[in-house]
Amino acid sequence: MPVLTDHLERAGMSYLLEQITINLREALRPQDRVEVVAPGLFAITLHCRSRTVAKAVAKRVQQHGQQGLAAKGQTIKPVLTGLLMACPQPALICKAKLLGYGRKQLENAGPEELGRVIMIETPLDRLTSDMPITVADAVKVGQIIAYFQPKVCCNSGRVTGFEALARWRHPTQGILSPASFMPGMTVTDHRALTATMLQHVLDALVFWDESGLHVETVSLNISNVELGDPRFSQTILQELKKRKIAPHRLVLELLESMWPFNSDPIPHRNLKHLLEAGCRLDLDDFGTGYASLDAIRTFGVHRIKIDRTYVTGCDVDANQQRMVSAILAMAEQLGVGTVAEGVETRQEHAYLAQLGCDEVQGYAIARPMPLEQTPEFLTRHNDRIDSLPGIASGIFC
Ligand code: C2E
Ligand code: CA
Ligand code: CA
Repeated sequence: MPVLTDHLERAGMSYLLEQITINLREALRPQDRVEVVAPGLFAITLHCRSRTVAKAVAKRVQQHGQQGLAAKGQTIKPVLTGLLMACPQPALICKAKLLGYGRKQLENAGPEELGRVIMIETPLDRLTSDMPITVADAVKVGQIIAYFQPKVCCNSGRVTGFEALARWRHPTQGILSPASFMPGMTVTDHRALTATMLQHVLDALVFWDESGLHVETVSLNISNVELGDPRFSQTILQELKKRKIAPHRLVLELLESMWPFNSDPIPHRNLKHLLEAGCRLDLDDFGTGYASLDAIRTFGVHRIKIDRTYVTGCDVDANQQRMVSAILAMAEQLGVGTVAEGVETRQEHAYLAQLGCDEVQGYAIARPMPLEQTPEFLTRHNDRIDSLPGIASGIFC
């Protein structure tokens, strides 16, 4: 390249590169991009081509780019070496890293490879973007998974069900919790998240049934974004039917802060449709929102989940005790079940059992876990059931 630059000078060289770019473009579709990365180095992006087709296109591009060009009264015949890199998950790739990697490969190419098209695999783990991509992108590549946290009945000690909690299995950052990816999610992200979580919870029910494990219900967290989709209830009920799963095994957890809905009738219609079909509804983070008691009754809320802020230290803190007692008394009057969330100690568990809370959920029982770990957890839990608070004291059996 330096020899040629000396001979043609800057203007001649620019003209030559421009002509090559034009020739390359002629072999491509309009949506494919050609970029000049450095003098004599081009990056071409082919969209949606199989490997075989991409190979054929690369050859054609090479032939076009090698057409003789007239410059300074001479014919110059470029020789192009191509590097074809397959990107099965383009959303995850950092472009700068990809270009840097490709450049290095070309620099290291041996003389026998000059003028050829070399095909290589893209080392995904080395080229992944460090920048966050969208949740919808992560769903597409199967990185949004579900962890499952059990709920336990205070009377029998048995596991009544699991709550599914979203996790992003990020290729470079490890397992991410919702706090790091849910804020700022778009409507598309929300819909993609719920659609994939629904599949995960249905897969889980099938897995537990096939493994002979008696897990009655699984809970799915939903937001008002999904409830605003006119086809939401229909989609859920269709999926349940397709998998032959009884609707009462699916619990929808809706944040109390989302009540009461605005005047939009769609969320009401969705909820009504789902509840009439038999799905259950839990009001999440109870005590932090403003659900009217009337709405709880008329909608047929199945359980309220007492927010962790009231549960922490309830075995020792008189203020917490007053709040929890008041919520439990109200729930009893309304005829709805109760789950205490964020139960971290055996003492809190024992106190809540004594007060008559129906179920507990929290680190004192188990942290959220991948589906594969649930059978082992259930075996261990059932083995120690007699030593659980409430059961051990013999008061509530
Ligand atoms: P949430 O529905 O109230 O879930 C309970 C959260 O408390 C979970 O956090 C859980 O890991 C955590 N937790 C459970 N037991 C304990 C405990 O004993 N102590 C403490 N300190 N924390 C405990 P996570 O998994 O980070 O989820 C946070 C929130 O993200 C959830 O709160 C829920 O509102 C939302 N979320 C999670 N998955 C989904 C989903 O698939 N869809 C939607 N729309 N929201 C989701
Ligand atoms: Ca929840
Ligand atoms: Ca909650």
